[in-house]
Amino acid sequence: MNSIKFLGTAGARFVVAKQLRASGGIWLSLDGTNLLIDPGPGSLIRCLSSRPKLDPTHLDGIILSHRHLDHANDINVMVEAMTMGGFQSRGTLFAPSDALDGEPVVLQYIRDYVDKVEVLKENTSYQVKNITFSTLRRHRHPVETYGFKFFLPGLTVSFITDTHMSPVLIEDYQSDIIIINVVLLNAIPDLPIDHLSIDNAKELIKGIKPKVAVLTHFGMTILKAKPWKIAESIQEETGIKVIAASDGMTLSFDEFI
Ligand SMILES: [Zn+2]
Ligand SMILES: [Zn+2]
Repeated sequence: MNSIKFLGTAGARFVVAKQLRASGGIWLSLDGTNLLIDPGPGSLIRCLSSRPKLDPTHLDGIILSHRHLDHANDINVMVEAMTMGGFQSRGTLFAPSDALDGEPVVLQYIRDYVDKVEVLKENTSYQVKNITFSTLRRHRHPVETYGFKFFLPGLTVSFITDTHMSPVLIEDYQSDIIIINVVLLNAIPDLPIDHLSIDNAKELIKGIKPKVAVLTHFGMTILKAKPWKIAESIQEETGIKVIAASDGMTLSFDEFI
């Protein structure tokens, strides 16, 4: 069974602060391995209140794409939950170096609880049990940020996290399934916000041509325009299946293998 569950689909400050959408990150179950990507505010609560419940002690790893609060707020409590309060060392924590050094978002004493801390670097492969994933080129974003590509038997799944638009994303994220963090309805020309807009997402979908694209991490302007309607119109325009993620949504990969 290969699937992902959206413990949150909120992006940007207002949607997170008002919890118009939840912000718990994404739980991956891949061939018996459980991984949590970007445990933002409320991640632990979302795991425990999921139906069926997601048990943090079953996690094999936690992966941070970058140190921003909407991605990293619950990182420490999730490590504690994964390791039974630190009494049962377990799992690997993956994070960029600026989430670990300087003003770290991962507390020092928490790092002893996991089996291993791995520093993410660009274009590097990592292994958790039977699952391989790689980072791609570093994203243009105000802090050190990496997206991920997971290699499953017969299927590649990419997570395009927060980033400024760039044609290299199309080269890097060639895969069967793409999950795209789209914060903005429209790009704001005079404001250098390093986030993707709907037009950017369209360009990525047309360039990558995946079997399915999932939009998530919505800012306020997208919520107001109804994400499912936006997904529908991109699907019509591109002829590629496009889904707008919702809180608690599970997507099974097995039908795409
Ligand atoms: Zn974000
Ligand atoms: Zn960010």
